[in-house]
Amino acid sequence: MSAPRSGPVLATYGTADEAAVGGYRYVLKKMHDVTSREYNFYVWRASYDKLWHYSSPVGGTANSSDLKVPTYAGGYCHTHPAHSGPNFSSQDREQFLTASKFIPGIAFYLMDPMQQLHVARQICDFMAGQDLSWLKVDP
Ligand SMILES: [Zn+2]
Repeated sequence: MSAPRSGPVLATYGTADEAAVGGYRYVLKKMHDVTSREYNFYVWRASYDKLWHYSSPVGGTANSSDLKVPTYAGGYCHTHPAHSGPNFSSQDREQFLTASKFIPGIAFYLMDPMQQLHVARQICDFMAGQDLSWLKVDP
């Protein structure tokens, strides 16, 4: 019996964007309170297989969730529950500025309350970010 190649850590992707979408698909499939709680995870490129992975999503409150992002992360991903704004928040922008100092090149991903995806790769991308489509990847 072989291990399933899906879910946090096990699923692999060719790009950071695909890993982020895979993580969001996992959140939508497994977490049934995304409208009331914020979820966070990060994506990273593993040295052992050169492929991208996503971490286990961490849930918080309606307004925030704490996640320690390692310096090897390539992207920080979070959700906005219902009644949150459709764009990145000013706090997200501040976190991006801080994170970029320690993790150059990190991208910030957002799934808004309408389940549209946004990505910010540089400070000028805030607050709306760039649109990211639901790439056809498995969770
Ligand atoms: Zn946010």
